[in-house]
Amino acid sequence: MPCFGAARKGAVQVIESMRQSLIAQSYYQATAHETPSYPALAGDVSADVVVIGGGFTGLSAALELAEAGYRVVVLEAGRVGSGASGRNGGQICTGFSPGQARLETQMSKDDAAKCFRIAEEAKQLIEARIARHNIDCGLTWGYLHCIPKPSQFDGLQHEAEDYEKLGYPGCTVLSKAELEAKLGSTIYHGAMREPRAGHFHALNYLHGLARAVSKAGGIIHENSNVIALDTGPAPWARTTQGKVTAKFMVIGGNAYLGRTVQALYGRVMPVTSYIITTEPLGEERSRALIRDNEAVADTNFIVDYFRRTQDNRLLFGGRASYSTLEPSDLAAYMKPRMLKVFPQLKDVRIDHAWGGYIAITSNRIPDCGRLSPNVYYAHGYSGQGVALAQMYGKLMSDAIRGAAERFDLLARFRHLPFPGGPIRTPLLTAAMLFYRLRDALS
Ligand SMILES: Cc1cc2nc3c(=O)[nH]c(=O)nc-3n(C[C@H](O)[C@H](O)[C@H](O)COP(=O)(O)OP(=O)(O)OC[C@H]3O[C@@H](n4cnc5c(N)ncnc54)[C@H](O)[C@@H]3O)c2cc1C
Repeated sequence: MPCFGAARKGAVQVIESMRQSLIAQSYYQATAHETPSYPALAGDVSADVVVIGGGFTGLSAALELAEAGYRVVVLEAGRVGSGASGRNGGQICTGFSPGQARLETQMSKDDAAKCFRIAEEAKQLIEARIARHNIDCGLTWGYLHCIPKPSQFDGLQHEAEDYEKLGYPGCTVLSKAELEAKLGSTIYHGAMREPRAGHFHALNYLHGLARAVSKAGGIIHENSNVIALDTGPAPWARTTQGKVTAKFMVIGGNAYLGRTVQALYGRVMPVTSYIITTEPLGEERSRALIRDNEAVADTNFIVDYFRRTQDNRLLFGGRASYSTLEPSDLAAYMKPRMLKVFPQLKDVRIDHAWGGYIAITSNRIPDCGRLSPNVYYAHGYSGQGVALAQMYGKLMSDAIRGAAERFDLLARFRHLPFPGGPIRTPLLTAAMLFYRLRDALS
């Protein structure tokens, strides 16, 4: 049984145990079209850019830079997709995790609106990459935000109007009855439907991205854990078998980075989220759950999120945790949560159960910046990184290429660091309990 707590075993061992034990059980791994492998770094090399992390952030930056003619080397500790990018809910979301109002507490409404447009561009980026690189990943548009409490209904209309004002039209509000015609659940009291958020097979997409990086001349090394690095003006990164010296460094290790870069350690906190998938349910039964194949999430602070898969399973995620121990039987831990939404699935077998680390920041706004003039980082998408991470990756690449304006806009957000030491995990566990209670009582 792997243990998730950085405090007891050391982040690196914990992350390694999660990587090894859980990836094999994920639905994504089991249904990936391809399982490409890339050789480990061997020897000393030089490059224009060394990228740490083979997830959406790192590969997105690598792709843009390689296509622009930069010599790029990506160092990935495990396999491409071992981190959150290969094991998430596959939901392509709108905007930023804490909502637009939180952004506006730190910058003008106009600048916050620019950030929203950056997030919107992430969706176009995904669509364009899928088309350009011929990535078969089941991209499907449509998203339902379901409200657990009747009192939240008016908020849905406001949200749809706010999106319209921000330049995102077409969101509609569904009454309880309208929602129940689309969703085989009676526990929600209405929903907002988004036309331009959706879902895909995250790992198939990521493998497509990696393939595109290679095709553009970028070099990917798997099983190349960076154990030492210099983030000064002449950056380098070392693994047990080699070293990359580069003009620029992009750090995209996110929640899996642990203490590799001490300056980034307290800026995010890893939170575990779990996912299960059912056995294939057949077209008719899965349509009875989500008729129009949208991605679905509730509006609680600790979110339940679910969707149909291409092979007509239900993929159901949620239950964030800061605690140190993984439940011994993840499927049994998650299934009651799914049955609360869809009690009709009582007899259904759970085929896959896995977890992964989400990096959160203290204010849930992603954190990015420079550790020195040529060393960039971005992380802390706070549960909403499938689309955003790719834009942050692209904007790091733009900044390296001399167009830093949009990256610098996002880097203006200020974040309180998380506490270190022995109180780190207990404090956040208490915070999580508070939010659970708030969801239950609000
Ligand atoms: C269970 C789960 C469900 C989620 N669901 C959704 C969702 O539905 N929608 C959504 O928008 N977001 C979701 N997220 C969040 C989203 O997946 C992440 O925000 C996004 O994938 C982050 O991408 P990344 O590239 O920054 O990080 P990652 O994908 O975690 O990649 C970081 C990579 O860096 C590597 N690395 C770390 N340290 C080193 C080192 N020292 N040397 C070399 N390599 C290193 C890791 O091995 C890892 O592969 C979910 C996350 C999880 C865990």
